Amino acid sequence: MAPTSLAAEAAAILGRFGVDERRFAAGTLPVHSPITGEAIAAVAETPAGEVPAAIARAQAAFLAWRRVPAPRRGELVRLLGEELRAGKEALGRLVTLEVGKVVSEGLGEVQEMIDICDFAVGLSRQLGGLVLPSERPDHKLTEQWHPAGVVGIISAFNFPVAVWSWNAALALVCGDPVVWKPSEKTPLTALAVDALFRRAAATFGADAPEGLATLLIGGRDVGEALVDDPRVPVVSATGSTRMGRAVGERLARRFAKAILELGGNNASIVTPSADLDLTLRAVAFAAMGTAGQRCTTLRRLIVHESVYDALVPKLASVYRAISVGSPVAGDALVGPLIDRAAFDGMATALGAARAAGGTVHGGERVDVNGASAFYARPALVEMPTQSGPVLEETFAPILYVLRYRDLDEAIALQNGVPQGLSSSIFGNDLREVERFLSAQGSDCGIANVNMGPSGAEIGGAFGGEKETGGGRESGSDAWKGYMRRQTNAINYGRSLPLAQGVRFDI
Ligand code: NAD
Repeated sequence: MAPTSLAAEAAAILGRFGVDERRFAAGTLPVHSPITGEAIAAVAETPAGEVPAAIARAQAAFLAWRRVPAPRRGELVRLLGEELRAGKEALGRLVTLEVGKVVSEGLGEVQEMIDICDFAVGLSRQLGGLVLPSERPDHKLTEQWHPAGVVGIISAFNFPVAVWSWNAALALVCGDPVVWKPSEKTPLTALAVDALFRRAAATFGADAPEGLATLLIGGRDVGEALVDDPRVPVVSATGSTRMGRAVGERLARRFAKAILELGGNNASIVTPSADLDLTLRAVAFAAMGTAGQRCTTLRRLIVHESVYDALVPKLASVYRAISVGSPVAGDALVGPLIDRAAFDGMATALGAARAAGGTVHGGERVDVNGASAFYARPALVEMPTQSGPVLEETFAPILYVLRYRDLDEAIALQNGVPQGLSSSIFGNDLREVERFLSAQGSDCGIANVNMGPSGAEIGGAFGGEKETGGGRESGSDAWKGYMRRQTNAINYGRSLPLAQGVRFDI
């Protein structure tokens, strides 16, 4: 492979993190930077046949790690957070090189990793159970949480490193080793994070067993070997609904726990009382940020007919003016799509929208760095009805706009898709806003007010319903997904009363 400036920069960052060049210079998995489309590395893959031995090492690590006190486990995650702080600029840059995110979003992804480490450190002293009243005299009823075992992590290309940290930071303080299969499109950032973890573990010392965090590089076959292994009781899988359906079924067959974080088709409702200036800015970021390649990207805008003409033409001019360009040259807000298939998917969806009567603004290819790089002007599509491509997640910057007359109709449209990840409402009418947040309102895992559906903080539980998979990661009590619950009934008396008044006198 002829060295290029992007390849040289990626190699320098990996070298700085201590990644052996043999792991990314002469392997079988080519890595293309979406910035130019050129190959920037060739990563060594893990043969699927080696997965069982890697899981055996993780299982052995589990037997040791579960005995390390949780606050001490938290110390390892604190050290990982320190490594991420020190490496933030370089790792953020590598995210930009490998995924094409604009610089502030690459850095934001690493900041999210630091935030979840901080959260997990505090959590390591709060993995509390319950004491419940027993119906029997001289009895105690308690509930406690134990480590679950090896946690498998399968992640998508669009958050190549943050998704690992949402899972790993919690799993590690919960007492579980992690085995990670990142997207085959983003192995470089995974190698970097693996190296940072190794540094943290070396500082931590002998309490961190070999096999505590494992990286498997490869495609679907490697993912399947992880999913099918009975020594992995929990698998967290982030990606398309198609992937989640395949993985979920395999996990159900062996009764393993699945944490599924799948596709979204997120909507915002703009009500008559909305602050339209704020709405315009929020919609622009939510729909066009990360070039429309976030699971929480705003894909449907449901606008009240009384404010439609005040908002939508202005939005169309923002779409015309938004800067599309290279994330490493200038200050464009919209970078490239990940690859040709993503651009083709966008073009197909726009064709279907036109055929269904939609009016398309934008959506054309923009030549930034030649024929191998796929940049597109974000598309705003005014639709007569919610049909055809509007019901699907197209992983590209397309925002469909629909009109509504009353809030019930808007909520029915918002909920009328197979996915249930994120949603929001713009408005200052308390009744409308609270109705949207009530049981009769949004059916999504996330429902925001006066902001878009994307850009979640790590403090809350993250995930969605319906075809989004139902999993929850990150904050709140998502940690419970990485532990097993045990109920304990303790008799400290001398008699043996049975529950429900049952008699069994011998
Ligand atoms: P993808 O489904 O193509 O791949 C995701 C991962 O699954 C990759 O690591 C891939 O190798 C692996 N995989 C695919 N098929 C598999 C199988 N049968 N068994 C085991 N592993 C398998 O997704 P992508 O294109 O990388 O990412 C985009 C998708 O991810 C979008 O649908 C997006 O909404 C979703 N996503 C969801 C969330 C969330 O939290 N809900 C977050 C980020 C991305």
